[in-house]
Amino acid sequence: MEFRAALPRFAPAMAEDDPMATVLVVEDDRDIRDVLRRYLERADHAVLTTASGAEGLQLIEDGACDLVVLDLGLPDVDGLELLRAAHRRGHPPILVLTARNDIDDRIKGLSLGADDYVAKPFSPTEVVLRVGAILSRTHAGGGTADAERASYGQGRLVLDHQRREAIAGGRVLDLTASEWGVLDALASVPGRPFSRYELVNRVRGYEFAGYERSIDSHVKNLRHKLGAEADIVQTVVGVGYRLGLNRDH
Ligand code: CA
Repeated sequence: MEFRAALPRFAPAMAEDDPMATVLVVEDDRDIRDVLRRYLERADHAVLTTASGAEGLQLIEDGACDLVVLDLGLPDVDGLELLRAAHRRGHPPILVLTARNDIDDRIKGLSLGADDYVAKPFSPTEVVLRVGAILSRTHAGGGTADAERASYGQGRLVLDHQRREAIAGGRVLDLTASEWGVLDALASVPGRPFSRYELVNRVRGYEFAGYERSIDSHVKNLRHKLGAEADIVQTVVGVGYRLGLNRDH
C-alpha cells in the first residue's frame, strides 16, 4: 500500500465546506497507478493506492475511501469477485477499469453494482472527469447540483430538474413520473448502459413500484412521446437502455 502523505482516512466523508474526496485506486500496473494518482491529486482528491485486490477490499471495508477506481484484471483477486464482495458490504461508488474490448466485463461489472466504467487504454483526464461526475451525483445531497438545466446532444434534449421537465427537439414532453425517472436516470451518465433492475431502483424515488419488465413499457411510452427524437433512448441488447447523446458543456 502506498500512502503519500498523512491522509484523512477516517475523517467524515465530504464535509460540505471540504470538497476533497478520498479516492482508492486498486490497480496492479504501477504506471497506471502513478498516473492516476498524479491526475486525481491535481484535481484535489486525496489518493490511496494498492496493487492488491485483497488489500483494496480491506480498505473498502474500513471505510477508508469515498470512491474506488478498480481495475478488473488483478493478479490476486478476480476483480468481479471483489466487486461482488464490496457490493454485499454497501460499498462506496466504484469506477471500473476494463480491458479494451472486454464488453463482457463491462456488462458484468455494471450489473454487479459498478457506477461507471472506463475502457483501457484511457486518458487519465477522462478518469478524473468520471470520478468527479460520480462524486457530484452521489454527494449531491442538497440538490443544488440537480437544480440546474442539463442539456444533451447540442440541445436535442434538455432536462430541467427543478420543474422535472424534459424538452426534446424544442418540445416540452408530457411525461409521467416514471418516464421522467427513467429518462433522468439514463441522463445521469450519458452513454452508459443501465440495467432494468438499476432503472427500477433509480426511479423508486418517484413512487414507482414495478417489476423490471415494466421498465420496457415505460421506455416504449417514453420513445413514443419523444417522437422524432426517439433514438435518444437506445436499447443495449442483453443489458437494458442508455442515453444516446453526450452532455453539452
Ligand atoms: Ca491489471
